[in-house]
Amino acid sequence: YGEISLKDIDQVVKSSFPLCMRHLFEKLREDHHLKHGGRMQLGLFLKGVGLNLDDALAFWRAEFSKKVGLEKFEKEYAYNVRHSYGKEGKRTDYTPFSCQKIILSTPGAGDQHGCPYRHFSEENLRAALSRMGVNSRATEDVMNKVRNKHYQLACTLTFEAIHGMQCDAGINHPNQYFSDSQKIFQ
Ligand code: SF4
Repeated sequence: YGEISLKDIDQVVKSSFPLCMRHLFEKLREDHHLKHGGRMQLGLFLKGVGLNLDDALAFWRAEFSKKVGLEKFEKEYAYNVRHSYGKEGKRTDYTPFSCQKIILSTPGAGDQHGCPYRHFSEENLRAALSRMGVNSRATEDVMNKVRNKHYQLACTLTFEAIHGMQCDAGINHPNQYFSDSQKIFQ
């Protein structure tokens, strides 16, 4: 897979984002804001799927400026976007988070990051799966994995239910979920 562009992003979110990233994306659109953990998790994922720096700045600016204003965005948030692309500070090229890292994260009050299979209530997870188009039988299989704390297997079953296809390798990285999905649609 190559680059994704901003004009396609809504469609790509629906077809190929894993639930953790879809949730962050929808919350950002709803609240025009995400706390630091959410900005890192979603921002590095978007970088990993090929959103270039200019598009990333435009993306975050469009949402945040609705909440905090353009000036505050440029002053307080744009630096961090450039930083995560390795364009500021120590110029470290940060890599997107793996499932393991996301599952082990500890979102606090008001945080939207984390893995929904691990961090959502059962009710919220069921509602989210239904919005993704997972049927009730597959949902029960997913919930079974969640109860046994097999979060990545739960995500793999979701992938299989949505794509109607086996995912033998299993899901171990949100960007792998994305690229495996894109391969199916191409
Ligand atoms: Fe995201 Fe991985 Fe959790 Fe799936 S298992 S929702 S890709 S963190």
